[in-house]
Amino acid sequence: MRQITLLGSTGSIGTSTLDLVRRHPERYRVFALCAHAQWQKLRDQCREFRPAYAVLGSAEAAAALAAELRREGLPTEVLHGPEALCRMAAAPEADTVMAAIVGAAGLAPTLAAVEQGKRVLLANKEVLVTAGALFMEAVRRHGATLLPVDSEHNAIFQSLPAGFRPGLEDSGVRRILLTASGGPFRNLSATELEQVTPEQACAHPNWVMGRKISVDSASMMNKGLELIEAHWLFGVPGARIQVVVHPQSVIHSLVEYVDGSLLAQLGNPDMRTPIAHALAYPERIEAGVAPLDLFQVARLDFQAPDLARFPCLGLAYEALAAGGTAPAILNAANEVAVAAFLERRLSFPAIPRLVRSVLEAVPAGTADTLAHVEAADAQARAAAHRLLPRHTSP
Ligand code: NDP
Repeated sequence: MRQITLLGSTGSIGTSTLDLVRRHPERYRVFALCAHAQWQKLRDQCREFRPAYAVLGSAEAAAALAAELRREGLPTEVLHGPEALCRMAAAPEADTVMAAIVGAAGLAPTLAAVEQGKRVLLANKEVLVTAGALFMEAVRRHGATLLPVDSEHNAIFQSLPAGFRPGLEDSGVRRILLTASGGPFRNLSATELEQVTPEQACAHPNWVMGRKISVDSASMMNKGLELIEAHWLFGVPGARIQVVVHPQSVIHSLVEYVDGSLLAQLGNPDMRTPIAHALAYPERIEAGVAPLDLFQVARLDFQAPDLARFPCLGLAYEALAAGGTAPAILNAANEVAVAAFLERRLSFPAIPRLVRSVLEAVPAGTADTLAHVEAADAQARAAAHRLLPRHTSP
């Protein structure tokens, strides 16, 4: 019986994870559920899964949740704040941590889980984007087990031999082919992109996801973040990672071997497949996902990415090549830009423009400690807020 701390339980990945826990009560038990603001949703989850602990972002939200749980006679203890997240991630009672907080806020608790040598299921790609070097070093030093949940990285993991080593040369791997749906705006012209709304950006053709990652998917920054994530997970340079636009989202990524073989993982676009894979690894469990009907799929299309209409991907390649804190700066600037786009303060094509000006304004340094990364993140956010008015529509 695995005991799970779920970071980001009220989100899209969090609720899919709980769906799998619900399907396999004989295998998984929830030790702690952690969210930020949605206390009513967390209350409903506490009613069903009866965790020992629940964590929220603010003292007020935690007090409201605690009062309701007490009234209902539920045993869950309610905590709040970033330190409580780290405490739950590191708690000895939990052997498995699902890292599914969105953004850089997930870094410290995910690192806390790794430092206890836990089995860490990683959805929160920003962890590797911002602090890849020190995070992977901590995984090695503390003997943690890192299992990728992001569908592309999970597909690559499934297409690699067990026990592969960073760099993948020993395994005869030539390249990684990272597939991208191209998002809802794949076929729009540069002029049409000027007019798109947050609602259109969040209506992804194939996947149901949180708002931030949906916008990233539409701008292809998500693929840029995944490129950096793949670099750290598999130890391969950006030059050996090719992004392939594949609109059907049926092939979730591929591995190209030196003998000419291409191995891929296919399936319906449902995050419960990679989550189930990571939860049960190396076993397999029923995930409630409909089998892929190849006759219905009928055809698979592939295109090269268009970096002129989607400059975010090019910015990510540049940040990865620059190294150090450049990817953390890219990520922080993008978080500010996406939030401004969702609040209708920034047009969609202004997202990469703002990110580029932050990358130019904030010099990248070394990313050897969490303090370095956090300082770069704070500096980039401050620069993004300062430069934002220059990019807002008149
Ligand atoms: P959501 O926006 O749906 O959920 C985010 C979760 O994080 C919520 O539970 C939210 O709590 C919590 N949260 C947000 N900020 C904080 C904070 N400061 N402290 C603690 N908790 C916080 O995101 P997704 O589930 O879509 O994505 C989660 C992560 O997984 C992201 O890094 C994303 O890139 C990655 N991912 C997601 C995929 C998907 O299909 N959704 C696919 C692959 C990767 P609350 O609801 O209370 O605000």
